[in-house]
Amino acid sequence: MPNESKNILCPVCGYSGYKLFYDLRTKRCKFAIPGLILKCSRCLMVYKHVASVKFVEEAYGEGYADCMNSSLYGSSKYAYDFFRKVLKKLRQTGGPKRLLDIGTGTGLLLVVAQSLGYKAEGIDCSRGGVDKAKQKGLDVKCIDVCDINPEKKSFNVITLMDNIEHLLDPISVLKKIRTILGPEGQLVIYTPNHRSFIVAIARFLYKIGITFPINNIFGGNHVCFFDERSLKKALNIAGFEMEYSWRFTYNIKRPGDKFSFVNLLFVIVFDWFGWLFGRSFRIVVYAKKTMKSNRCG
Ligand SMILES: [Zn+2]
Repeated sequence: MPNESKNILCPVCGYSGYKLFYDLRTKRCKFAIPGLILKCSRCLMVYKHVASVKFVEEAYGEGYADCMNSSLYGSSKYAYDFFRKVLKKLRQTGGPKRLLDIGTGTGLLLVVAQSLGYKAEGIDCSRGGVDKAKQKGLDVKCIDVCDINPEKKSFNVITLMDNIEHLLDPISVLKKIRTILGPEGQLVIYTPNHRSFIVAIARFLYKIGITFPINNIFGGNHVCFFDERSLKKALNIAGFEMEYSWRFTYNIKRPGDKFSFVNLLFVIVFDWFGWLFGRSFRIVVYAKKTMKSNRCG
């Protein structure tokens, strides 16, 4: 029997009915956002109900930007090669190449985009990241996506890398993106896939009392836990349709992840196994605009 609360609404379809997955209201680390992990009874989106916005502000407060900006991931050869592969998979139109990277951090994706002939610009809410990107001569502004004037912008490509899973209201951000993306433009979203084999194993382990994999996956600062199905739904509601996706396995060269040898083996083996069945943990989705945005439901 699903629960229902007027105060708890699905961030994708707005429905109030849900099933409780995990109670993760105990804060596990400085940057974690505590909350209840719920599954929408209508669209099946899995999301975190955060009791107060103050938990979100705390998680992204002091030290978070510095931590992210000094992360090896954002400046690594691994990330450079990964971004290059992502952009190489874009539909080639032969037209103008204007790209906006939302949540650009220190701007590595912009560097890659420029090397591929794009006029690239980025935005980020972190002042520290924007300053570092500017020092590299990149066109980056410290603003929110909602502050971009839609009349002045018409991008051919907009990228949202490792970002949508942090948004409390992803639909309004996607709708805003729709207003600044050109008619033939492409939106690229990179996010974890919560219908992956790794998550299925973590759920099984949780049932037998081994809780750390579920705590790691759902207990951090992510609040939206998409899979390809719920991402497609969110895109449709915001006026996009998915064109194609790219699923790939964990790369051992990815820096920044602190795994023990046993955990690393676990991740590699099960992610490869999942990939064989189209259920790897990481997905990149390419979407285009539909004629008009749809109503929720
Ligand atoms: Zn829903």
